[in-house]
Amino acid sequence: MELAYYSDYAVRLVNSEEPARGVDTLTSADAVRELFGNGAQAARRIADADVTRLRSVRARLRAVFEAANEDDEVRAVDLLNALLIEFPVSPQISGHEFRDDNGRPKWHMHIADHAVNASATYTATACMGLAVHLTEYGVDRLGICQAAPCRNAYLDTSTNRSRRYCSDRCATRANVAAYRARKREEREGREGREGPARERPRTDSAAASRTDPLAPPRTNPDAPARTNPDAPSRTNPDAPARTNPGAPPRTNPLAASRAEVTAYRANEDRGEERGEERSTGRTAEAAQESSATADR
Ligand SMILES: [Zn+2]
Ligand SMILES: [Zn+2]
Repeated sequence: MELAYYSDYAVRLVNSEEPARGVDTLTSADAVRELFGNGAQAARRIADADVTRLRSVRARLRAVFEAANEDDEVRAVDLLNALLIEFPVSPQISGHEFRDDNGRPKWHMHIADHAVNASATYTATACMGLAVHLTEYGVDRLGICQAAPCRNAYLDTSTNRSRRYCSDRCATRANVAAYRARKREEREGREGREGPARERPRTDSAAASRTDPLAPPRTNPDAPARTNPDAPSRTNPDAPARTNPGAPPRTNPLAASRAEVTAYRANEDRGEERGEERSTGRTAEAAQESSATADR
């Protein structure tokens, strides 16, 4: 059993709310059932009260991701430790309903069946998974989406630790916005040179290059190298890739967005020739396809 797999429970719960957009999908016992996923035995105990209980846990789990996002590793760890004490695991080997070909129970681990309610089971499982993920891969692997207004939580599983967005959708949105801003800046620069001399806002060339969606993934040269000498070989290239058979393939959000922006740029250039505003819907699809190919 891969305990780190359960870190997805934490991400799922945190992202059931989008505070900046005023969206909350955790509104009913059915929504709680959805969080648990198919076949979870603990889901049978779900009651209406679990909505409120999980909402309060959600705020605390979000705080863990926010602290990690602000590079406050100690705070992230303290907050998660507090949850771990409050929602302990109680490992049990279970053999319910599933039988192998010879009719024997398919023994597997349940890690928090004896919690007082379904929410406590969910929380203990999520926190255990997140704790394993954090210690195995690093606190900097927990993040908050940088594509405002989205503040979704994510776990960075990219090999070069380059992830900044919760989804391909957000990566695309952020990159197109940055590309448009750069275009606007260039256009204003042209007008400034051709038109009468006037004060223009100074553009920082470093900032401009930082927003180039086609630039390679940013790495901050000023950031201290975060290495823990006691940590197990996080960067071991020989380590087997973690795979969760149920999860959709994890694609590199940056790869997708670069492809999208290339398509977008081509499309916009064509649009400019005709002097018309064009929708990006079709190019987004095209990019999705090309990125899917690139990631395989
Ligand atoms: Zn089971
Ligand atoms: Zn996002």
